[in-house]
Amino acid sequence: MNFLAGSEPEPHFDQLYRELILDHYRLPRNNRVLEPADADLTQFNPVCGDEVRLTARIRDGAIEDIAFVGQGCSISQSSASMMTEAIRGRSLEDASTLASYFRAMILGEDVDEAAMGDLMSLQGTSRYPTRVKCAILAWDTLQKALGGTSGREDVGSSDPDSGG
Ligand code: ZN
Repeated sequence: MNFLAGSEPEPHFDQLYRELILDHYRLPRNNRVLEPADADLTQFNPVCGDEVRLTARIRDGAIEDIAFVGQGCSISQSSASMMTEAIRGRSLEDASTLASYFRAMILGEDVDEAAMGDLMSLQGTSRYPTRVKCAILAWDTLQKALGGTSGREDVGSSDPDSGG
């Protein structure tokens, strides 16, 4: 199978990271829709057709359960899968902090590798602007969903590199 769909430049990943990404892509974790859900947001990135729908249940200021469904390239889907594992059970504050760390890592900043765990596997996308959007899609969806946005949004016109 093609590791990445389309004709975009292919980031280099260390073998272990590549296997981890493919494992999450083939066997996505928490791959379902929670009903009812306290947060429910779908984001679509038309650049490579990535779509992530995130649903979450929130109780006592923490993310009691979180799940996703989606389609698209391996980076977008594995990022969403890893995110649900990393975020489940965290307080809203911790989840927001981790999302900020992830975004910083993908934008090329140094981060605490121990705090990131398996999420480090996606660091290789940081040098590829089109892939940055793939990796960040699920996390952007998370932050907006926790901020109260629901429904469906296109994110293709927004650029995470701009404005900074
Ligand atoms: Zn993608």
